[in-house]
Amino acid sequence: MKALVKSKPEEGIWLEEVPVPQCGHNDVLIKVKKTAICGTDIHIYNWDKWAQQTIPVPMVVGHEFVGNIESMGSEVTGLALGDRVSAEGHVTCGHCRNCRAGKRHLCRNTIGVGVNRPGCFAEYICVPASNVFKLTDAISDDVASVLDPLGNAAHTALSFDLVGEDVLITGAGPIGMMAVAVARHAGARHIVITDLNDYRLNIAAELGATRTVNVSNEKLDDVMKELNMTEGFDVGLEMSGSPVAFNEMLSKMNHGGNIALLGILPEDTTIDWNMVVFKGLKLKGIYGREMFETWYKMASMLQSNLDITSAITHHYKIDDFQKGFDVMRTGQSGKVILDWT
Ligand code: NAD
Ligand code: ZN
Repeated sequence: MKALVKSKPEEGIWLEEVPVPQCGHNDVLIKVKKTAICGTDIHIYNWDKWAQQTIPVPMVVGHEFVGNIESMGSEVTGLALGDRVSAEGHVTCGHCRNCRAGKRHLCRNTIGVGVNRPGCFAEYICVPASNVFKLTDAISDDVASVLDPLGNAAHTALSFDLVGEDVLITGAGPIGMMAVAVARHAGARHIVITDLNDYRLNIAAELGATRTVNVSNEKLDDVMKELNMTEGFDVGLEMSGSPVAFNEMLSKMNHGGNIALLGILPEDTTIDWNMVVFKGLKLKGIYGREMFETWYKMASMLQSNLDITSAITHHYKIDDFQKGFDVMRTGQSGKVILDWT
């Protein structure tokens, strides 16, 4: 089968012929229809320090996809051949305390699809049946292929009560822009989102932001005055991974505010801890999606008019994958979809 493989320890990714994966008796084999490129795939493409330390070469990359079940192991129940599915990209151990408590997103032994085990940038992918999420017809193939990052957005945004609250989102990457739509759907009042990239901020505006702020030429203080926000933000969603943005968020939170941190900050990031202490802020780290509560919430929101299609900006046939990686690397994109059919 065709697959996009990280086959050499250097910048790039290559379309190659590899064997169809062999499935175990608790696994399903899925024929891949569409995949989406994640920031993680760009780290792997660029072969940065994290990728060099993490990815065994050769590796079939990718973890955002939609497809149909082609075959199933003998022990699989509750699924049928042909089912249209996506899947959770974190394969969990099943025996740690959190897994046994049904909190699989907190498993300490997580293995990443397309990171530590073969991924979905391929004609077929094999995953444990317990990772599969069956799709309703209400979810299009395009949207189904981005449920993984939408799940990051939903897990982060739904961490705190948003009804009537003022929300600050730092970073209008694909996940930040989708978090705008989720926060709007959930009933927030003002949703202010910051970035340095106008292309992405414009999409965030389409997805329901009250106000977009390009921090390279506008001050958040001025925007807060314009919106008559005299006290500060109730909820902060950090989705940039930028220490500057995170520190700015801390200073703009109201006392007692809640912050969910998705963005991956550099190890040496420093903050003013007194801001956290004296304002009584609550900080929550977010990893992945809740298995599978976030998936059910996403499906339900999509069936009740959550619309994130503006976040999908580019489509390419798999043979043109290079164009997809190139546009992602420019930052002038939302989600980029690669079509395998
Ligand atoms: P992305 O890199 O595409 O988007 C980040 C955005 O932040 C970019 O548009 C960038 O221009 C913007 N930015 C940079 N500096 C800024 C600043 N000072 N102020 C405001 N915006 C600024 O990433 P993404 O795919 O949307 O993911 C968002 C973040 O979440 C990334 O840090 C990513 O690594 C992380 N992530 C975490 C998890 C998890 O499980 N915790 C999962 C996926 C992604
Ligand atoms: Zn576990």
